[in-house]
Amino acid sequence: MAAQRKKPLLVASPPSVGDLHAQLVKRGMVAPLLSVVVPVKNEEDCILPFVERVGTILDGIAHDEGWEILFVDDGSSDSTLAAIVAANQRDGRVRALSLSRNFGKEAALSAGLDHARGNAVIPMDVDMQDPPEVLPEMVAKWREGFEMVFGVRRCRMSDGWAKRVTAGLYYRAHNAVSKDKIPKNAGDFRLMDKKVVEVIRALPERNRFMKGLFAWAGFRQAAVEYDRVERETGTTKYNYWKLWTLALDGITSASTVPLRIWSYLGAVIALFALGYAGFIAFDTMVFGNRVPGYASIMTSVLFLGGVQLISLGVLGEYVGRILTETKQRPLYVVRDSVGIEP
Ligand code: UDP
Ligand code: MG
Repeated sequence: MAAQRKKPLLVASPPSVGDLHAQLVKRGMVAPLLSVVVPVKNEEDCILPFVERVGTILDGIAHDEGWEILFVDDGSSDSTLAAIVAANQRDGRVRALSLSRNFGKEAALSAGLDHARGNAVIPMDVDMQDPPEVLPEMVAKWREGFEMVFGVRRCRMSDGWAKRVTAGLYYRAHNAVSKDKIPKNAGDFRLMDKKVVEVIRALPERNRFMKGLFAWAGFRQAAVEYDRVERETGTTKYNYWKLWTLALDGITSASTVPLRIWSYLGAVIALFALGYAGFIAFDTMVFGNRVPGYASIMTSVLFLGGVQLISLGVLGEYVGRILTETKQRPLYVVRDSVGIEP
């Protein structure tokens, strides 16, 4: 009789270390490799498509090491939070903070960076204008040793010409007066190593112009190009006035050159006035007093009045910001959280 082979007792193979790790990450017990931080305001229709598309790509990059998508609900008045809760119930790696009101995208991003647990953190917009297909390339660069991998828009054709021109002017003005240069056409979409995130978290200022803070932080940087497409669903939350305010925040927080300009301008005008006084004295002595000059007096009075008002205004911009800083209020208030243990 042929000896019968014994059946193995254990039919299923034991879970691998990778599987166990993935389970722990899913339950929130181990820090994931990647955290995608997404500020959202009234974006109920964008949440599910975002989670599906970005989740698939993240699974491709870091299924075993783990990932999380951390939404920051920036005071939405629609059912954005409900959509996030639904996504969390389907996949525990989707988490969220809900702020007590609308604090603005910069503050929402700060909240996200404070609560992200990944070894690398990637801020993204929810409207798919930051294509997740770039993520593998970003992560590859990070694994090569770059601590900050920022996305650069290859073309901005999805923005109207007015936005392209004003954005171009802004980057020029910012980089002309500030030592921390913002890379042209780079937005908030970037990958940051934990080290960079910790530096940004530790910055004490209330004024969070993120692109300026990222530029200030330094570290080894690399760029990855991408095409910025049109928003898929929903509408933009930025009008020109908001963008203008953001630009003022950016410049005043990065540079004091606008304060200094006035001393130089004052000096130039004073020199010019001195020369002109000499000319009038000479003119009177040689040609006598013909009492002309109404036009020149009006012009100089109006011009100097205007210059003084502008310089006062610039002073005001800075004084106002000093006031905000000295109040030391928190940057944001968290009302609730989804999938985050206190
Ligand atoms: N956003 C936010 N708080 C705000 C305004 C915008 O969290 O007060 C979010 C918004 O939901 C989106 C991202 O910031 O995920 C970018 O906003 P948007 O697409 O409107 O800006 P744009 O791409 O038009 O510059
Ligand atoms: Mg957008």
